[in-house]
Amino acid sequence: MKCPYCEHEKTRVIDTSHDSRGGIRRRRLCVQCEQRFSTYERPVLATPMLVKRDGTREEFSRDKLMTGIRVACAKRPVAAADIERIIGAIESELQQMGKAEVPSRLVGDRAIRQLKNLDQVAYIRYAIVYLRLDDLESIRSEIDRLLAE
Ligand SMILES: [Zn+2]
Repeated sequence: MKCPYCEHEKTRVIDTSHDSRGGIRRRRLCVQCEQRFSTYERPVLATPMLVKRDGTREEFSRDKLMTGIRVACAKRPVAAADIERIIGAIESELQQMGKAEVPSRLVGDRAIRQLKNLDQVAYIRYAIVYLRLDDLESIRSEIDRLLAE
């Protein structure tokens, strides 16, 4: 570990402690300038790659998901914090699967399920794009299904 003050290559660990989230904190002392600093080690969960319908892969993008959900929620009484929460929940669910790759529709399915509980108009808007409800008949049957629940 390089010293952040003088960039000397050698530091000495003078104390090690564990934090409540499973991380490790090390107090270090630079052997050259004798400045002290701490380093933290925490597990980083990887987000799986998304496999699209056509077989190509893309990285999970919070921004892309955010844009889709925001458009669906435009002018609806939905708090920005709720949108953040949905995206955070989807991202951590993906990470907890512990897989290298998952079908990209998983993301859309989860978003749809969450929106359905949050705001039904936003849900229908998102579903029109995501489920490719591209004719009035299928949009109406989706709305009828919602009203029947
Ligand atoms: Zn130093």
